Amino acid sequence: MLISIDGIDGCGKSTQVGLLSGVLGARRIQEISPSRWGKRLRATANPSLAQQLAWFTADRATLAESLEEASGSETVHIVSDRSYLSAVAYQSYDSGLTPSFLEELNRSIVPEYDLQIFLHVPVTTALVRIEARGEAKDWCEHPGLLTWADRVFETWVSMRDFIEQVDGARGIDEVAADVRDAACAASLRRFGRIVF
Ligand code: ADP
Repeated sequence: MLISIDGIDGCGKSTQVGLLSGVLGARRIQEISPSRWGKRLRATANPSLAQQLAWFTADRATLAESLEEASGSETVHIVSDRSYLSAVAYQSYDSGLTPSFLEELNRSIVPEYDLQIFLHVPVTTALVRIEARGEAKDWCEHPGLLTWADRVFETWVSMRDFIEQVDGARGIDEVAADVRDAACAASLRRFGRIVF
């Protein structure tokens, strides 16, 4: 199965991706990946919109083959830290690009996900967690962008059946239990049994 966890920075994605991939025995991947395009993104302090669009999309395209192996599979499982949904939410901020355009662009290069989880926390909670890291903030970790992205994620949950919202503003174990339940429910829907 192909499963992603998306949400704003600091919502707890990496924590939950680590836990879920461990429980499912799934391969863990991350957007941004270590491809040449991903490395360019990580090396650029403040990428222009054109650079973001080109490099995020190119980076995602390098993952497509692996994503295809897991999509709809009963034996190959991937849990991804972010997916194209993050492009839909983030790259539509103050850019003149609509979330729908970004979704269409990206869905033309990646297969269907069996489940996409939107891990929701209030922006204020995410910012407290980001501050607590004690590291320099990324170019995208500011309230205006995070508030916008959060709204787009919420809108997309309401429009797409394969996206499940999980409340990330609770203890790690409680959140992990709901994330696991969502994966099991998706497996039952898809295959009529738990395939992990
Ligand atoms: P993201 O990948 O979404 O940026 P992380 O998983 O890196 O988020 O979590 C950001 C910070 O918040 C980390 O320091 C992590 O330990 C902490 N954290 C993650 N989940 C929770 C939670 N449910 N409650 C409190 N803190 C959390």
